[in-house]
Amino acid sequence: MGTPEGLRELNRLRVVDALRARGRASRSELVPLTGLSRTTVATIVGDLQSRGLVVEDAEGNGRREQRGRGRPSAVLRFHASAGIALGLGVDERRLRLALADLSAVVLAERSLELAPYDTLGAALDAVEELVADALAQAGAERRQLMGAGIGLPGPIDRGSVAVGSPLLLPRWLDDDVSAELTRRLGVPVEVDNDANLEALAELTFGAGRGLEDLVYVKVSHGIGAGLVLGGRLHHGATGIAGELGHVHVQPDGAVCRCGGRGCLGTIASTGPLLELLRPAHGADLTLEGMIALVAGGDLGARRIVHDAGAAIGRVLADLCNHLNPSAIVVGGELSAAGTALVDGIEQAVARFALPAAARAVTVRPGLLGERAEVLGALALVIRDVERLRSSGLPALHW
Ligand SMILES: [Zn+2]
Repeated sequence: MGTPEGLRELNRLRVVDALRARGRASRSELVPLTGLSRTTVATIVGDLQSRGLVVEDAEGNGRREQRGRGRPSAVLRFHASAGIALGLGVDERRLRLALADLSAVVLAERSLELAPYDTLGAALDAVEELVADALAQAGAERRQLMGAGIGLPGPIDRGSVAVGSPLLLPRWLDDDVSAELTRRLGVPVEVDNDANLEALAELTFGAGRGLEDLVYVKVSHGIGAGLVLGGRLHHGATGIAGELGHVHVQPDGAVCRCGGRGCLGTIASTGPLLELLRPAHGADLTLEGMIALVAGGDLGARRIVHDAGAAIGRVLADLCNHLNPSAIVVGGELSAAGTALVDGIEQAVARFALPAAARAVTVRPGLLGERAEVLGALALVIRDVERLRSSGLPALHW
């Protein structure tokens, strides 16, 4: 990088990285972010604009800044031609897909019921069709795709990138999801589990913006956590980090699908809560029905959701002592039940964590709802552009 060309390339990458990290920024905001001079930033931005990779946002009026006598400073963002990221989020029932440009502006979203698909191959056939459809809606071409992120339920083995537990996702166990999707789409594919990607989404776009250390807890048919330490997702040695639902809480409790006994998930996930309510509200009570009961102020429903929060918070209190996060962000299907769950968690953390750790942490609901996983898959790709570049697949246009 000692040559003038090398230095120019390095400076250009600084601008590109800063704009990617911020999503949108004015020229004057890019100066301190890159450490480059105003003239150098203006030259590089001009070059990126002349090649159509960066555009001035016509809708950026709310962000325009007036500096002295100078003209308003336009907000810059990436054009879709600079590259498009594909995010996929899969749960037991549904697949969600989103396309975004490198400024994380979502260009198209689709979803698909997964129930009819018996194999990964059949599901990915449908995914390919859905990608083509979404690209057409975004007015983009397949060659602009630069990477895909996919979120799957259950732990992901970081060595093989195969789904970790046969008990949690039996149909897809033997398939290497990443390799198969890479082959079909012709772009690098990153796989992570749902809770990790939802944590990344809340960190990037939602309730955790600006934070460095947070615990995201997902309460659905299972319970999982995504740990963000020092601004980065923590996977652990083999990808098991954050398996909160399998923390042992009841010595004589029910047998869990992991083979353990009395795991947190056997008392505080949506399945066992529904079983507690069914004697009073009927055997056909659904999750949506339970959430409606809580929202309607049903005392019994509110009580069991609050108790579930307390059980989860008891485990999170210990985690706060270990990790000292500044926020616990609560998501997953049960988070739609509103304040009862968050209150239960908050009270248990206040009661059982070390006072200094409890004071440092705020418990807050996630902001992204059921879109969190697919947005996290997008964030995974957008944050990882440099690595994708060095993989040589595909050729990028800067
Ligand atoms: Zn378990």
